[in-house]
Amino acid sequence: MYMLEKKEINVYWFRRDLRLEDNIALFESSKLYNPAAVYIYDSDLLRSDDFSNLHNDFIDDSIFELSKSYAEQDSELNVFYAPAIYVFKTLNNAYDIKSVISSHTTDNWITRKRDEKLKHFFFDNGINWKLYQSNGVLMYLKDRNGWSAKWNMQMGKEIIPKPNISKFIKLQFKKEIFSTKNNKIKKFNYEKNLSGGESKAILRLKKFLYDESLDYSNNISSPLTSEKSCSRLSAYLAYGNISIRQIVHATRARQEELRALKVRNGWLKSLSAFSSRLRWHCHFIQKLEMQPNLEFTNMVRAYDALGRELNIDYFEKWKNGYTGYPMIDACMRFLKTKGWINFRMRAMLVSFASYNLWLDWKQTSKYLSKFFTDYEPGIHYNQFQMQSGVTGINAVRIYNPVKQQFDQDPDGYFIRKWCPELVSVPKDYLAHPHLMSQALQKRIGCKIGYSYPNPVVDLKKSTLAAKKIIYDIRNSPVARRQARDVFLMHGSRKRSLRNHKNKIKLRFQ
Ligand SMILES: Cc1cc2nc3c(=O)[nH]c(=O)nc-3n(C[C@H](O)[C@H](O)[C@H](O)COP(=O)(O)OP(=O)(O)OC[C@H]3O[C@@H](n4cnc5c(N)ncnc54)[C@H](O)[C@@H]3O)c2cc1C
Repeated sequence: MYMLEKKEINVYWFRRDLRLEDNIALFESSKLYNPAAVYIYDSDLLRSDDFSNLHNDFIDDSIFELSKSYAEQDSELNVFYAPAIYVFKTLNNAYDIKSVISSHTTDNWITRKRDEKLKHFFFDNGINWKLYQSNGVLMYLKDRNGWSAKWNMQMGKEIIPKPNISKFIKLQFKKEIFSTKNNKIKKFNYEKNLSGGESKAILRLKKFLYDESLDYSNNISSPLTSEKSCSRLSAYLAYGNISIRQIVHATRARQEELRALKVRNGWLKSLSAFSSRLRWHCHFIQKLEMQPNLEFTNMVRAYDALGRELNIDYFEKWKNGYTGYPMIDACMRFLKTKGWINFRMRAMLVSFASYNLWLDWKQTSKYLSKFFTDYEPGIHYNQFQMQSGVTGINAVRIYNPVKQQFDQDPDGYFIRKWCPELVSVPKDYLAHPHLMSQALQKRIGCKIGYSYPNPVVDLKKSTLAAKKIIYDIRNSPVARRQARDVFLMHGSRKRSLRNHKNKIKLRFQ
């Protein structure tokens, strides 16, 4: 019987790299024979416990813009809604797939497992899956010797121009099999302040570098000022609307301009602080790249003995911004409304959950991932571990929410906005409203235990109890040994390990 020959294609698979510029994998695929660009809303991933409509909306924006760019060139971005393995099996039945090309991304566990299955499928079907290094996270690394130098080298390379996308083909099937929108995505009401997409990312970067970054260093920690003074580039980075290298290049150019203008108003200091964080971005993701189980395993296993259990009452109060600590409650409500909050307030929320409420970071991290539009597994889980005291190589830092309130919101504007039930509480009581007399509560119409809760735990006692348990483990020989191993694998170091041997000995003796 006559068999119709299948058409040869090369698939470019967009993942967390939703941009045209500085995308080497896309650039290279544009030179291949019959390239076909694909994005897959993988229904298995969309319903996972770390994903929500906040992420989906950002991806939708990005895909909308990319699709438009393809359409403008009379070509196509083929978008599918199904498990990736099913998409590729179906594609492979209809076409002769020669290769699949994508940027390497460091994703969560479920994506890795999915990718392992796909790797086998591609191998069994003679499909070459070519992954390109993207950003400053290095593939196949065993330790961090010389990592900084390699990162600098990666950042120093030229920006890859936008490719010619006019030749990407529309994939044709007998029937429309991939058009069902996934309705199992967890949905929350929130204020959408940022739209996804490559052009939006570039605009955000320019606005930050030219208009908003002057006071970055001073304003980064207060929830009153950070929304306007931080770059707000994190979600764009998480979905690859912009590359770290594009940001590094633009920041260096801006620094040069300011130097040439002899600007002495602190702007350069701010941009230097910002630049450090771009390196941290990759530094943290590199850890998950090298040790994927950090999503659910304490970095130092000796801390498995902490015995953090799920106290449902505490967890619910924390989740709902109803702990009786105004700074915690205001920050949680702000975060859940905005889909973003600054670093210090994230750290405080997690520190309070892990130390004072003694909740397990594995549960709290999954909960908050759904409200961080910028959810980036490599940063997220490592930060949760750090702020929960289980990495062994970082200082134990327990944030005091009362002190944070005095420092970051001394006049109570933020608290009164996000905990409106406290609007009439006098300033002196705003950090501990439960200390108001009954008479005062009655007079101002704010009854503690009714309008606003009593503190869920005693701050001092719970902090002391947590410190004791954490330090008992930290000082044990087994935890010290494991911490040294963690440092050898993940510790940030500029020179080779040999040069650092003495330093390591000093740190851990
Ligand atoms: C518990 C916890 C969880 C976090 N989860 C995430 C996450 O899922 N995704 C995420 O992008 N960031 C996460 N962060 C880091 C940080 O809070 C955010 O990157 C930052 O608030 C994003 O806002 P921005 O883009 O305006 O940051 P800016 O201050 O403008 O910084 C610029 C960029 O530098 C990087 N960066 C900044 N601070 C850090 C840091 N401490 N560690 C690593 N990279 C950093 C980010 O890519 C950020 O976009 C987490 C922090 C904590 C304490």
